[in-house]
Amino acid sequence: MSIPCWRRARSDKVARMFSSKTFLHLAVPSPLRRGFDYLPPTEVESGGEKELLPGIRVRVSFGRTTVIALVLEVKDTTDVPANRLKSVQAVLDDRPLFSPTMITLLKWAGAYYQHPIGEVVSNALPGLLRQDNPEALSTALKGVRVWQLSDTGRELDPKTLSRAPRQVALHQLLANASEAGLVAKQIDTVQTHWRPVMAKLVVKALVQVSERSCLPAPSGVPPIQGPKLNDAQAAAVEHISKQLGRFAVSLVDGVTGSGKTEVYLSLIDNVLARDEQVLVLVPEIGLTPQLLTRFRARFAVPIAVLHSGLSDRERLCAWQSAREGDAPIVIGTRSAVFTPLPRLGLIILDEEHDISFKQQEGFRYSARDVAIKRAHFEGLPVVLGTATPSLESLHNAQQGRYSLLLLRERAGAASHPDIAVLDVRKQPMFDGLSSALVNAMRRHLDAGGQVLVFLNRRGYAPTMLCHDCGWVAKCQRCDANMTLFNRETRLRCHHCGCERPAAKKCPDCESTELRPVGAGTERLEQALRREFPETGIIRIDRDTTRRKGAMQSLLESVHDGTNRILVGTQMLAKGHHFPDVTLVGIVDIDQGLFSADFRATERMAQLIVQVAGRAGRAEKPGQVLIQTHHPDHPLLQVLLHQGYAAFANAALEERRLAQLAPHHYMALLRAEAVDEHLPLQFLEHARQLAEVLTRSFSINNVQLLGPVPAPMERRAGRVRAQLLLQTAERAPLHHLLEPWLQQLERSKLGRKVRWSIDVDPQEMF
Ligand code: ADP
Ligand code: ZN
Ligand code: ZN
Repeated sequence: MSIPCWRRARSDKVARMFSSKTFLHLAVPSPLRRGFDYLPPTEVESGGEKELLPGIRVRVSFGRTTVIALVLEVKDTTDVPANRLKSVQAVLDDRPLFSPTMITLLKWAGAYYQHPIGEVVSNALPGLLRQDNPEALSTALKGVRVWQLSDTGRELDPKTLSRAPRQVALHQLLANASEAGLVAKQIDTVQTHWRPVMAKLVVKALVQVSERSCLPAPSGVPPIQGPKLNDAQAAAVEHISKQLGRFAVSLVDGVTGSGKTEVYLSLIDNVLARDEQVLVLVPEIGLTPQLLTRFRARFAVPIAVLHSGLSDRERLCAWQSAREGDAPIVIGTRSAVFTPLPRLGLIILDEEHDISFKQQEGFRYSARDVAIKRAHFEGLPVVLGTATPSLESLHNAQQGRYSLLLLRERAGAASHPDIAVLDVRKQPMFDGLSSALVNAMRRHLDAGGQVLVFLNRRGYAPTMLCHDCGWVAKCQRCDANMTLFNRETRLRCHHCGCERPAAKKCPDCESTELRPVGAGTERLEQALRREFPETGIIRIDRDTTRRKGAMQSLLESVHDGTNRILVGTQMLAKGHHFPDVTLVGIVDIDQGLFSADFRATERMAQLIVQVAGRAGRAEKPGQVLIQTHHPDHPLLQVLLHQGYAAFANAALEERRLAQLAPHHYMALLRAEAVDEHLPLQFLEHARQLAEVLTRSFSINNVQLLGPVPAPMERRAGRVRAQLLLQTAERAPLHHLLEPWLQQLERSKLGRKVRWSIDVDPQEMF
């Protein structure tokens, strides 16, 4: 992205005034949209020991605090007057954390998403490296201590220890533990003050202490061979393997169960054979233990895993083993796209359509788009895989920018599910269920199948209504209804998180006729328990899976057949395999058909196809039933009768006519404040500044739409508004954004509101 020419001319002139010296251009964690120049530390100027290179961390004083910053550039000019330059206090690293290419990527991301570079860098660093902790890196790969019985200990008759009952207990604990031994945390849960006792066992050589790497070594079991690829899979693998070593993007479009993962595994084999690393990116929810088990069974190499559930130490360890090249395979969620990988050879991004690849707050980047840019800078191929391509990627494939590789058949013996709508108009419904759906469930359960009931709304009911006066439970801080949950005892706002007990009496008319309106997963579960008292039922949504490991044990109860009905939200739609599920019921899709967000139909279609893909994955044929009040909706009809590809083409054409993404490029300026007038005032001011800039730089064709109040105007006590920028070409938009945001940053009004820019927004509120 280029800088308007007047800025460049001026900085050249100033720069000449201070030359023939070394200056460090730093990314400092700060909301300001620029880097900062510093002088090297005094000892380096006099020939100090650590070499100053881009990618090295330094400690600097910044404002009134001391912070950790990253060197972006070592240069010989600056436009900061000499008397205002400070020296950095200390150099923290011996060698760069990021390669020059990665620094180019970080700078590109800051410029493209118009986000402060300091925060972009912070986002890319593990938490422990953002702190002033010089030991963190050198100890990152240090293992954890493990205690296990020695051979003597194993053969020992515990009776010989009988006069030391605590030693007996510890001995017993270790004897029952797995071969791998126990770590302190595990022993802590069983015994207190065990360390002195353990020390005695160590002295007697009954117990040995060792250190286990935080990167689990391969199991030692020989890797299993994959199945012989079918023709479509083999063609995809061959196509992408030929691209190794140069930039290319492939979109692997294959229905659920068509063997996409087998394609990835086979490609990874080829990359490992070249002694290169692979980065596999998955949506937060797609990173299932099942997927990891599958990878670990196939490759006898260490696999580093990066996701939001790790402790700081675990994260740093995985990051460092990726950076050192110790982990040939790195699997991670969104932010793993910034992991340094010295021998990176291939990036695979699974479920590329998934919205969780886009960070929706702070640094609003798309991990998919950053991955593609990274591959471009590093000269390597990217594979995007999905059963339901995003319209963006499909558009790129149609324009010839990506190769499109189709896997049309389900691999192995599985067949396609049969999808139908249930017209629920005028049908009696109880708790959101029609009797047609309940009857179908009964048939499938009687035949020995399992049933998945999907509803994308958690809680008991979307809201509570007074039957006598029409009062509705509204959030006091948001323009939204409160959700009834916890067996109708509490109300919660899903937008701001506030909670209160559900009143027993209407606050307006004191009537006790308060009723839940509509159904959420909790109510559905209750209704199903009444309907199927003999059948085990589980519910999977954010409320039931908050505890660590909860999801896993719920899923296991389905796999072992204890529970045969699953109720849940979109958490069920992705990644998981339920081989015995033969019926999928989708309870309500009508919201998705008539939403204010132009992407709602795309998301609805993706969800239907993804949820449907859970049925009949093994040898049992699957059926999908969708309850709707709009069975004739044209997009639904196209989706059901002609499939996702036809739907996507129709939707792309609609978007083209309406001049929306992906045909047009967008950026959204959002503002919010407690004062109800400020956001619109600020955005109006922003609009005027943008108009002046477009005229003076002759930037054409950037449309400014708004400002308008946000679809949900009040949220968490703040009033919100937005201004949309839309254009047929990307370049003019980016020409405008940089100088515009610099002006907004300096504007008085800009300091009174919270504002943010979202480039390529995924959600329009
Ligand atoms: P996807 O990632 O597209 O959902 P998977 O790669 O998980 O599909 O494959 C679905 C199932 O089919 C898996 O159990 C997998 O082992 C099996 N499978 C994939 N490819 C083949 C093949 N060529 N031959 C036999 N079974 C296969
Ligand atoms: Zn009332
Ligand atoms: Zn609220």
